[in-house]
Formats: sequence, C-alpha cells, structure tokens
Amino acid sequence: MDLLQDVVNLLFPDSCAGCFGDVGQNEKPICYSCRTSLPAIVSRPVGNHAPLEKKFLGLLPLLHCLAFLKFQKGGITQRLLHALKYQNQPDVGEILGRLFAEELKFNGLTTRFDYILPIPLHSSKLKKRGYNQAMAIARGMAEGLESEANDQILIRARATETQTKKGKLERILNVGEVFALDPEHKNLLHGKQILLVDDVITTGSTMEACARLLIQEPVAGLSVATLAIA
Ligand SMILES: [Zn+2]
Repeated sequence: MDLLQDVVNLLFPDSCAGCFGDVGQNEKPICYSCRTSLPAIVSRPVGNHAPLEKKFLGLLPLLHCLAFLKFQKGGITQRLLHALKYQNQPDVGEILGRLFAEELKFNGLTTRFDYILPIPLHSSKLKKRGYNQAMAIARGMAEGLESEANDQILIRARATETQTKKGKLERILNVGEVFALDPEHKNLLHGKQILLVDDVITTGSTMEACARLLIQEPVAGLSVATLAIA
C-alpha cells in the first residue's frame, strides 16, 4: 500500500494525500471531500477521549486527553500520516492540525493553551526528514486555537551515562537520546496551560516520558493531544 502511494505521489504530485484524486490548487494537499469525511472521534462536549485517557490514568494529572482521527490499517488516516511523514508534506500536518482545532472548538473546547509543544523528533530522523511532523501539527493547531507552537522548550538531549543508568523509561525507549527541558526556555512554562502534541500514539510511553518532565514544572495545567489513535 505504502509503495503504491509513493508511486502515485511520484506520478501525480498534485493528487489528494487522502484519496489520490484530483485536488484543486486552493484545497491542496487534502481535497474538500476527504476533509469532510475524516474519521473524527472528537465528541461533544469535549471530554477526555477515554482510550487515550486510560493510558495515563493514575500516572499523570492531565487536564485534557484529546484525539482527532481513528487510525485504521489501510484507511485514510494511515494514508495522510504516510504523506506527512514520508512524502515530504508537512502541509498535511498543518491542515490536519487546523481541522483538529476546528473540531475541538466546534465541540465546545474552551481551554486556552499558552503553548503547544510537539514531541521532539529523534535527531537522526529530523536530519533525514528535514522537519518534525509533530511540529507541523502543532503549528496548525496553534493557528486554529490562537496559541503558540514552540519546539524550543521540550527537546532531545544526548543521554549521559548516569541518565542511561537511572531511567527505566529511557531504557525502554532505547534511543541514545532522552527528552529534556531546555534550561534557557523552560521558565516559559511557569503558570501556563500547556498542550503536548504527537502525530500518533501507540503505547503512550513517549508521550508519558515527555509529560512527566513537563509536569515537574509549575505549569497551570498539562494536556495531551494526538492526531491519530488506533
Ligand atoms: Zn481526497
């Protein structure tokens, strides 16, 4: 499926990232038909998405656990994520972030987030991809929610030997890099409503590792959001 999508994209660079159909210049990269038929799972009133909340229940005090699209193998969400991550289309993330924000507002979300932080991408992937897809989503959401996307506060840092020894989570993640708060920027968090964003959540361990760092700071509140969830 992914290979077929790559071939289609190569032959028809102007096709919709969701259905591969024709897409007008002003609707690129996702056609209006796809935008209105996304498998959105936000409900009214905006409460916590139960399957997502369950992953963090008893572990972290979160204000909102927000999820936008249902992920199904071979479904439109998978095609959009593939375009976002592997076909050099950060604009897919920005549009989906805006649609996510619209859906949240439509369903009554009133929380005002001061900062929307993407889960940082591993440096080797960032080098290869050229952009952090979660930051693309964060930018779209920030536009829609009149907030600010920031990828300077939560960062990846090279693991020191002591960090590697002490952190169970870091060992599970096994990345040679760990998450950290940038000392020059972390005071921006003080007294602020923070929303942490990723493209897709599977086990939730990456999100949890980042949320644990953030909640140690005197934030006003911490929420998490994922563009897609299985
Ligand atoms: Zn389409």
